[in-house]
Amino acid sequence: MERAGTIVLRVTLVGLPVGLLLLYLALAPDGIGETRVAAAWYGARVVSSAPFMLLSAATGAAFSLWLAVRTLATRRFTKAMRDGGVPARRVKTRDEDHLVARARAALEPALTRRPDLPRLVDALLGTPVDLGAAELTLIPEAFGVQVSLRFGMDRVPVTTMPSETFEAVLERLRMIVGVDDVGHGTIELRGSAGSERIDAHFEHPAVDRRDAYALRLVISRRSGYSRTLEQLGMGEAVLARLGAALEHDKGLIVLAGGNQSGLTTTLYAAAHRLHRAGKHPDALVAIEPHVRLELPFMLQLEVGAAETASVLQHALTHRYQVLLLRKLTDPASASLALQAARERLVIVTLEADGALAALRTIASLADSKLLTETLLLAQGQLLAFKLCRHCRSKETLSDEQRRAFGGLELPNEAFHAQGCERCGGRGVTADRIALFWSLERSPWLVELLQRPPKLEELRRRAFDHGYRGPIERALELAEEGETSIDDALELARARRLG
Ligand SMILES: [Zn+2]
Repeated sequence: MERAGTIVLRVTLVGLPVGLLLLYLALAPDGIGETRVAAAWYGARVVSSAPFMLLSAATGAAFSLWLAVRTLATRRFTKAMRDGGVPARRVKTRDEDHLVARARAALEPALTRRPDLPRLVDALLGTPVDLGAAELTLIPEAFGVQVSLRFGMDRVPVTTMPSETFEAVLERLRMIVGVDDVGHGTIELRGSAGSERIDAHFEHPAVDRRDAYALRLVISRRSGYSRTLEQLGMGEAVLARLGAALEHDKGLIVLAGGNQSGLTTTLYAAAHRLHRAGKHPDALVAIEPHVRLELPFMLQLEVGAAETASVLQHALTHRYQVLLLRKLTDPASASLALQAARERLVIVTLEADGALAALRTIASLADSKLLTETLLLAQGQLLAFKLCRHCRSKETLSDEQRRAFGGLELPNEAFHAQGCERCGGRGVTADRIALFWSLERSPWLVELLQRPPKLEELRRRAFDHGYRGPIERALELAEEGETSIDDALELARARRLG
């Protein structure tokens, strides 16, 4: 709308003087009749000239082309949105500035010196819904609490609020949601266009190395768009392995990581890949503790207070081609999932230190023969904070650091950050980056899993076969300057073997 307004204004500014001149010539008294005749003759000559004709034709053609390209782009954009893809770049170029301006207009009046708390909370809860944002995040920073909205993939800072106000807002929201300190619940929001259930998460970020981040609040709408696998930053090899595994009609894919390491995001993105590969929404079913995002390309069953195994049992009576199971914890579900993987593609997520640890867990929960029969791929992931670009620097690894990594092959130099004003002295930003690693089915692995091996043995054998686990991946990213060498060191010291 703003752009249309600008165009109208420009046309008026140019057109008005010309129009006035023509009007003057047309209505001029007889005294300047000759001028009129001359102008009319000159005008007719210009209009009938070849350059003018050519120019008109070219302008017409260019306009038609522009219109066609725009229509096509709009159609593709709408389709991608409907399919659950995240055309984040397009969203950004289109109207992000406008959305941010609207969010500011809604929030800032309530953020005065003595904030009107009920009004502020209403505005905070209503803004993501009104603007179609997937998420509202409040993160304490050095300069105050940053309020940001997520549109598609992008988290956009909107405004800041004083820490005292944040405390009061948290207090009030905790009361509404019924959460004491950390945890999540739902809020029923009644807007003018109907009501919507919103998830509110009160959380300490998963990786809290410098202990400087206070509680953060994420309010997310349940309807949203999945990311694609390509957007997760897996690295080529891991992405290719997962892509290949997803092409199978049957078998087991294991996604493992710590609590809040982004497993659900990966699972949703994998489902989205299957959808893009032509799987009908009726062929995909997800069984989830609670539905994080309602996605258009699969059926989602919420376990809620029921037993995971009984929901799974129920789902297995239908002919779903792909089964996605979030948070595998119990032996009954593990057995059912492995049985199902003999005939269909089954993707499970479970809380474990990584790919190898997850395999050991599953082997202990269910029949390890079934595991060796069905396993396609085990993948691990964890989140690390992104290094601050303003104060990071490359340093030579000390002898002590080298010793801590044991016998690993190490780069000569890796990045580290001291902390500066921009990052509040922490050396890292609020953004996080995911580390992925994985292990494919192979003869030696199948043989080893016949009798559940020790983690060290599993890792040693995997390593001999070219396996690169979390420590290796962290080292790679520290060498590139994405994360700190301290992260890799911490993983090595904690013996996160993958
Ligand atoms: Zn910094």
